Amino acid sequence: MASLPKKTIEWIERNQIEKTKDEVFLIDQLNKLADDLIRDSVPKFKDIDIPYINTENIHILKDIDFKTIIKSECNALVNIENRGILIKGSFARKSPLVFSSDILHEILHLKGFTSIEVNKEGESFPRRSGVSSLSSIKKEKEGDFHAHFLGLNEAIVSSVQKTLLSKIIDMSMFEKEKERMKGFSAVKNKVELAKKNGLDVRDIYWVTESGREGGVLPYPKHRELLDYMMGEIMVQYPEKYKNKNEVFKEFLKAHFSGELINLGKIIEGTFGKGSFRVLGEMTDENESAERTLERLKRMKETEVGHA
Ligand SMILES: [Zn+2]
Repeated sequence: MASLPKKTIEWIERNQIEKTKDEVFLIDQLNKLADDLIRDSVPKFKDIDIPYINTENIHILKDIDFKTIIKSECNALVNIENRGILIKGSFARKSPLVFSSDILHEILHLKGFTSIEVNKEGESFPRRSGVSSLSSIKKEKEGDFHAHFLGLNEAIVSSVQKTLLSKIIDMSMFEKEKERMKGFSAVKNKVELAKKNGLDVRDIYWVTESGREGGVLPYPKHRELLDYMMGEIMVQYPEKYKNKNEVFKEFLKAHFSGELINLGKIIEGTFGKGSFRVLGEMTDENESAERTLERLKRMKETEVGHA
């Protein structure tokens, strides 16, 4: 998406809700959680300042349809070139846990490798975000927009979100909710909610007392694909990676540093020639992740057959 017009920015300012003390505190904690992970996975970032996502850059909006400003139906979104995060008020206020989980997801996008193109007219447009790359402003205007690694980008971000969520839930302010989630009624509600919506119950980390609404981790198919890939890479390079977590660090390195060469090598080395390109074509749609997983599995079989 191109940079937001001034009118839209003014509109956001007018329609935002003031953050609570807890929300401000949580934003700070989420920054710290993300930074610890980055320093742990990318050695060269150990001693440098990682951009802090300010409270002012995160906008909780009055209950409106995002479609009025942006062609999107999601509950939260990130605007890379303006370094901003928008979240629907009704969604953000469901529970501080849901707020934390979703804001963390968007913060991880903003802390990912970023490159922005600015043209003579002063319009800006993201060219790289995490592992994804997007076509130029010119192409966008000609209606020829294309992107690569959008799906992998979401797979990495939502997998980190899942990993860090347990640390969020462990925070003392969530002690009561954590206990409640272990209770019979919450567990039963989670199972029912999963059944009703075709979700994996392990992806539901929070549920209301009535059981009607929950907090759900996004991109299950993308995470499944990433998990499959990490398993196969680990088997292919046992001397290099002792466990999946070590393989995961390669993906994290690529997301935060923007360097894709090493990732390309280990993926092609595991799934065969052309597999990195196949992965690059995966979009953020569920069906695309399912198709890509099948393609990679077939490529792996052929690879093994030839070995
Ligand atoms: Zn995302």
